[in-house]
Amino acid sequence: MADARAIAAGLFVCDVDGPRLLAGACDACGKRHFPASTVCPYCAADGAREIRVGPAGHLELYTTVLRAPPGYRGPVPYGLGVVALDGGLSVVSRLTEPDPARLRPGLPMQLVVETLYADDDGRPVLSYAFRPVRA
Ligand SMILES: [Zn+2]
Repeated sequence: MADARAIAAGLFVCDVDGPRLLAGACDACGKRHFPASTVCPYCAADGAREIRVGPAGHLELYTTVLRAPPGYRGPVPYGLGVVALDGGLSVVSRLTEPDPARLRPGLPMQLVVETLYADDDGRPVLSYAFRPVRA
């Protein structure tokens, strides 16, 4: 199998502790943002630091996407939601669970990195998502 690649650079890493999202932390206003950028989207200060966030959080909002948006090559339907990470940053993310009957506000969620699709050369393309943590 060909080597896997990330769907885009700078979104996530997989290290010995598992996957983490790469977020920005602004020392000027104290807020975090995702994806990371050096310029803070809240106060426009330059020099935000890159930090690793996740993998745990809880579901705030969710919906099901039934038809693929332009450029999206992963499976449909899929879940899409807002996940509040432990530590105080909420991110919009694909969810591994497409069935809204199996989701609810406050559900514990875990960051995963998984193959979204194979590109034209057969290389697995990896992206992040959140999956429900079942008790
Ligand atoms: Zn800021």
